[in-house]
Amino acid sequence: MEKTQVKCSFCGRPKSEVDVMIAGVTGHICNHCVTQAQNIVKEEVSGKSNKEISSQLQLLKPIEIKAHLDEYVIGQDDAKKVLSVAVYNHYKRLTYAISKKNDDVEIDKSNILLVGETGTGKTLLAKTIARLLNVPFCIADATILTEAGYVGEDVESILTRLLQAADYNVEAAQRGIVFIDEIDKIARKSDNPSITRDVSGEGVQQALLKLLEGSAVNVPPQGGRKHPEQKMITVETKNILFICGGAFDGIKRKIANRLQTQVIGYKSTEREEYDEENLLQYISPQDVKAFGLIPELIGRLPVLSYLNPLDKATLRRILTEPKNSIIKQYVQLFEMDNIKLTFDKEVLDFIVDKAIEYKLGARGLRSICEAIMLDAMFEFPSVKSAKELRISLEYAQKKFDKTKLSSLKVA
Ligand code: ADP
Repeated sequence: MEKTQVKCSFCGRPKSEVDVMIAGVTGHICNHCVTQAQNIVKEEVSGKSNKEISSQLQLLKPIEIKAHLDEYVIGQDDAKKVLSVAVYNHYKRLTYAISKKNDDVEIDKSNILLVGETGTGKTLLAKTIARLLNVPFCIADATILTEAGYVGEDVESILTRLLQAADYNVEAAQRGIVFIDEIDKIARKSDNPSITRDVSGEGVQQALLKLLEGSAVNVPPQGGRKHPEQKMITVETKNILFICGGAFDGIKRKIANRLQTQVIGYKSTEREEYDEENLLQYISPQDVKAFGLIPELIGRLPVLSYLNPLDKATLRRILTEPKNSIIKQYVQLFEMDNIKLTFDKEVLDFIVDKAIEYKLGARGLRSICEAIMLDAMFEFPSVKSAKELRISLEYAQKKFDKTKLSSLKVA
């Protein structure tokens, strides 16, 4: 007698029509149904995580966002506060968009402009926020952008990057954060728009406007113009948070000029006291306009804040205090080899002094540490008896003097 053929308990397909049939305790499942089931599970899970994200976002109040930033970014309290509120409102706007009623007030998007010297933590702030919110994040450099048709990248390439960061999950990308660095480099060269139009700057600003104000943008998934055949993906930028950053070299003079005229114009009798050392704290949209950003773009970046230059005390804290500080990272690396690494206090001061002496800023801290630690990292893992390593000032100085870094000219 012919044995009855095994059938999938879900779709009923016989074994002969499928590639794989998996047996369970009382039934069977074919490969088609496994795939389908997997897709259903995936959809369910991602639907759930969307909900989870929005409820998680609601739970994070500005004070909590700032506390999280404090763990990774030292100082910059004003920028952190402004950023925490802006991000909180942005995501409130997002969750509200889901449960929107017709008669509700439409909340505007609050893209952010951060002004501060290079290496003071602008990118770090944006990155830390994105990690906290668990949303896709990408960094784009405004200097490589050009108007469509010119050599360079179109502004849409920014969204290509965001899509890539989101693993091509369009929905996730549409909630992401984009950090546009060196926004000051696309400033109009003159404050007077009637003087020769400058294509490189103003044109790109115009093109960026489209992204920042929220529109459906067709994005080449692979980027560039090398793949004209690729199918475009439409990305809605309405809920993407844009954080722009720039050093705005020379803007202090514009701030000073404005403060000066204000003093003369409105308060001729009493002169207000300004902190001349750090004029950035008085920055206003007017100054950014005087620097050469077009008013429409400034209008799309309603949240404006500044970062302080890093002084010695701050650099010293950056070395050891952040959750993933450079020193903590070295200690961890050695711990993996069961070696207890310690630094004498003077070594930390030495590293900071060198970063200041060579004008390397916070970015330089890492290269100086690397110069000091390289030999130890090379040799110690092979020393079987090694249990402890203490870096003394003498050792640090010796290693540093041997490196290329120390031969840098002090600018
Ligand atoms: P920017 O974007 O302002 O040019 P980054 O955020 O890229 O500067 O900073 C460069 C690096 O310097 C960071 O990766 C971080 O290691 C360090 N750094 C800069 N500022 C801070 C800060 N305020 N707190 C902690 N680390 C900082």
